[in-house]
Amino acid sequence: MSKAEHVAVPADVSELGGALDQHCFVYPQQIPGRKHGPQGYAYYEAYRDWLRDEFSFRCAYCLMREPWLRGSSGFQIDHSIPQAQYPAGILDYDNLVYTCPWCNQAKAGIAVPNPAEVAYGKALQVNEDGIIQAKNDLGLLLIEGLKLDHPELTSQRRLVLRIVRLAEAKNSVSVILNLLGYPDDLPNLRRKRPPAGNTRPDGIHSSCYQLRYRGELGLIY
Ligand SMILES: [Zn+2]
Repeated sequence: MSKAEHVAVPADVSELGGALDQHCFVYPQQIPGRKHGPQGYAYYEAYRDWLRDEFSFRCAYCLMREPWLRGSSGFQIDHSIPQAQYPAGILDYDNLVYTCPWCNQAKAGIAVPNPAEVAYGKALQVNEDGIIQAKNDLGLLLIEGLKLDHPELTSQRRLVLRIVRLAEAKNSVSVILNLLGYPDDLPNLRRKRPPAGNTRPDGIHSSCYQLRYRGELGLIY
């Protein structure tokens, strides 16, 4: 199912809204919670498609998106509470977080607040120049724990912001959709059968695949 099948692609960038760079690094202002609850897979990698949808196809810690790295294959699965501290949580869906390799490595072995259980947007803010700032002590902890202010990460954020601004100025709808749109390969979670069921079956209705199928998924986010 491609984007074009259900939603008309606009001819002009302005139809996508203005100030598109402001979509790039917006942490949730509310506690996200979890919409899915698959259970019983024998290895945590089997939860990947659920986690992709759960965390909107981006790293829950730094907000880098699949299209900005190498698609889903460029992403990893993190244990919010590290495996060594919480062996029982290795296959606990609510302990799993979709992450980029950078953040997974930066975080290795330490616990930071679970991004599904805490509103990171109350603690973190990314400025127009790509610099990340803490709004409170939690923000300081997240920046330090995940090295979110590392110069390489700051320059990567700055580059993404510049490309989005340039594409908007040049009215390049396709580049904006590539950068800020949902991936083409949205997982169809309705077809999955978690071995021990799904504690939050209603979440499938609001999965991106189903939203796109019903024509209710936005073109960009
Ligand atoms: Zn990351």
